[in-house]
Amino acid sequence: ALGSTVVTACVSQESVGRQQHPVLQLHPVLQLHPVLQLLGCTAVAVSVPPPNGGTEEDRDRTETRGPLPPGPQITDHQARAALLAHVADRCCWGSGAAKKMAIAKINYDSAFHYELQTFTEKRETSWAFTPYGGGDVDGPSNGAAPLPWDVEAQPAHLFHDEVKVVQVPHTASVKECHRCKGTGSLQCSECHGKGWTRCLSCHGDGWYTDSSGYKDRCFYCQSSTHGHGRQDCLKCNAKGRVACPPCDSYGQIRCFIRLTITWKVNTSEHIVRKGGLPEALVKEVSGQVAFEEEGTRIFPLTQFP
Ligand SMILES: [Zn+2]
Ligand SMILES: [Zn+2]
Ligand SMILES: [Zn+2]
Repeated sequence: ALGSTVVTACVSQESVGRQQHPVLQLHPVLQLHPVLQLLGCTAVAVSVPPPNGGTEEDRDRTETRGPLPPGPQITDHQARAALLAHVADRCCWGSGAAKKMAIAKINYDSAFHYELQTFTEKRETSWAFTPYGGGDVDGPSNGAAPLPWDVEAQPAHLFHDEVKVVQVPHTASVKECHRCKGTGSLQCSECHGKGWTRCLSCHGDGWYTDSSGYKDRCFYCQSSTHGHGRQDCLKCNAKGRVACPPCDSYGQIRCFIRLTITWKVNTSEHIVRKGGLPEALVKEVSGQVAFEEEGTRIFPLTQFP
C-alpha cells in the first residue's frame, strides 16, 4: 500500500436521453378524460426521457491536464514502522528481524483508483389530486403547460441525492369527487347507510324482562335516534353517512400533474495497476489525489507514473 495513487474523477451527466418524449399526450388532456379514468392512473408515475441533452461538447480535455503530482516518498524509518505494525498484527510473528534488518532499497509501485461519480436527474409525471374547498386554480386558461423537462428546477447541491416534487403549472382543474360523486359523504359501511344496528341486548325487541317477569324498556336502546330496538351507529353518529376522505367532504377535488424530480449520485470504481499491488488493498488505502475533474464526459488518464 505504499506509494499508491488515488484518482478521483467526477462527471456531471444530466439529461442522458435520446428520444423525444411522448408526454404531450399527458398534457392538456384534463378535459378529455373522465375523472375516474384519470384517477385510475394516479399511482402510476411515468418516467419521462429527457430531450436531446448535452449541449456541451464532448471535448477531450486530456491535453489540457497538467502533469500528475509526484508520488509520495517514504523514509527508511516510515518503512520500518509500517513493517513493525504489520508484524504486530500477526500473532506468532517475531519482530526481531524487522527491527534489525538493514533497508538497502525501497521499490515504489503505483496504482490508479478511479472513482467516477455520475450525477443523474430523472423526471416522472403522474396525476395527483387534493381536496378542493375553494381558491385559485392554475388551469390551462393561464397558459400552456410546460413539458416536464421545461419545468425550471435545480438541485440544491450538485452531487447530492435529492427528490423534489412540484406541480406542473397550468395543469390544474376542479372535478367532482370520484368517490362520493360530489355529495361529500359516503354510505356508512358499519350500518349500510341506515344509521342504526339491531340492539344486541334486547335483540331488537326494545324491551327487557328480568328473572321475576318484570318488563321494562331496554336500557341500551331506550333513547336511540332511530327508535326502540335499534342502537345508534357509532361510526356515523346515527347519520348513515361518513365523511369522504379523498375530497375531505368538499365534494370536489383539484386534479393536477405532479412532477417528481430525482437527483442521484451514481458511483463506480475502477482500479488500474501495473505492479503486484493486490486490487483489494488498493481499494482500501487513502493514497493521494492524482487529479480531479468535472465535466459532461471524463476521459481516462493517459500517463502512468
Ligand atoms: Zn368525495
Ligand atoms: Zn353507520
Ligand atoms: Zn335494546
